[in-house]
Amino acid sequence: MAKEKKLVEAITSMSEDFTQWYTDVVKKAELIDYSSVRGCMILRPNGYALWENIQKELDRRFKETGVENVYMPMFIPESLLQKEKDHVEGFAPEVAWVTHGGLEPLTERLCVRPTSETLFCDLYAKIIQSHRDLPKLYNQWCSVVRWEKTTRPFLRSMEFLWQEGHTAHATAEEAEERTIQMLNVYSDFCEQVLAIPMIKGRKTDKEKFAGAHSTYTIEALMHDGKALQSGTSHNFGDGFAKAFGIQYTNKDNKLEYVHQTSWGMSTRIIGAIIMVHGDDSGLVLPPRIAPTQVMVIPIAQHKEGVLEAAAEIKNKLTAFRTKLDDSDKNPGFKFANQEMLGIPVRIEIGPKDVEAGQTVIVRRDTREKEIVSLENIEESVERILNKMQSDMLERARAHRDAHTYQAVDYEEFKDAIANKPGFVKAMWCGDEACENKIKEDTTATSRCMPFEQEHISDVCVCCGKPAKALVYWGKAY
Ligand SMILES: [Zn+2]
Repeated sequence: MAKEKKLVEAITSMSEDFTQWYTDVVKKAELIDYSSVRGCMILRPNGYALWENIQKELDRRFKETGVENVYMPMFIPESLLQKEKDHVEGFAPEVAWVTHGGLEPLTERLCVRPTSETLFCDLYAKIIQSHRDLPKLYNQWCSVVRWEKTTRPFLRSMEFLWQEGHTAHATAEEAEERTIQMLNVYSDFCEQVLAIPMIKGRKTDKEKFAGAHSTYTIEALMHDGKALQSGTSHNFGDGFAKAFGIQYTNKDNKLEYVHQTSWGMSTRIIGAIIMVHGDDSGLVLPPRIAPTQVMVIPIAQHKEGVLEAAAEIKNKLTAFRTKLDDSDKNPGFKFANQEMLGIPVRIEIGPKDVEAGQTVIVRRDTREKEIVSLENIEESVERILNKMQSDMLERARAHRDAHTYQAVDYEEFKDAIANKPGFVKAMWCGDEACENKIKEDTTATSRCMPFEQEHISDVCVCCGKPAKALVYWGKAY
């Protein structure tokens, strides 16, 4: 009993300490555990099932656009990594090296992939000869390693799971089109499945990917007002192609360099699901991504007919990911556990319900209760899950909009960043010096230049020189 009680013990409240709340949730919802390797996490069944659903949904969407999956080795020879100068400089501080094979020192160090551009380029240089070989639309699901100094579950870990897409195209236009297309795939997935609204835009040169011509991003706002970069799509132009010699003969039999893209989404997005939707009772999972969508909980299950009715409900709901909690724990514990795990709805069934041919459905997000007839329980569950899914997106959007501010002068800007957690929209001159000053003065970074540009003033919020673009600024994870 003592152990049971501990499991449903209240977690730290969000308003009291958001960081601790987050740590409590990932542990108590049994998403992860810490491993004996510093900064590496163990994905437990609840966490891994979430990732599997993300993977399934994204993989299907990728393949609908013609993408094929491959698998690359996890080691990259040092000489290969060094072929593209910006790329190696960008990643050098966080690369893990293999220096020995067994007892023998290696003649060339191997890095454990922090990302696989160089391997894909090496392959493309071999297999692309003619315009007929293009485009190449490859993706791989794998883990990568980045030697991070400070780590947090899902948000930043030394090894994490992700997918990395790498494409090669005949023209710059095709590459740009693919870069934007994949950004839209991510954004649609996040909104439709994860109920997280995204700001789509372009990164400034300071924030773009090492070696990229341009980087596009989707940015989400967490419950505490901090931003989370949730997925990125890069257009490499022909920079990597020139460094790696990836050329094809065009229709006029002339040699040309390919144009490339890469795009990735990682287990980081699970951090966004937690921090956008969670509450003081634990996780709240959007129905479309939840590994378990419905938990059937019998009440007074020792009474005649209750367990049978509960099992019957579970068997009826095969269209949903349904579980029955028929353990001998008390209903209060089961409710708290279902809430901690973020299971979208629970169905309560007790002796009186059995008699009346009805049941109570409780939504996880609003705790709204609805009495529905057992006869058409499938329709009721479907309707409630759909409503919950769309309500969650609308709530997240309303929260983001309510925490998006704008500033036209620097005092206003600094005040907003310091006192109003959220996005701050402000004009920017395009000079990296202003980004650096803003970061130094406020710790905020430029999140993106949104595709939907607005004109809120003529001058840069920092230096007062003519403005080039509206930028979303914020403190970020
Ligand atoms: Zn400026």
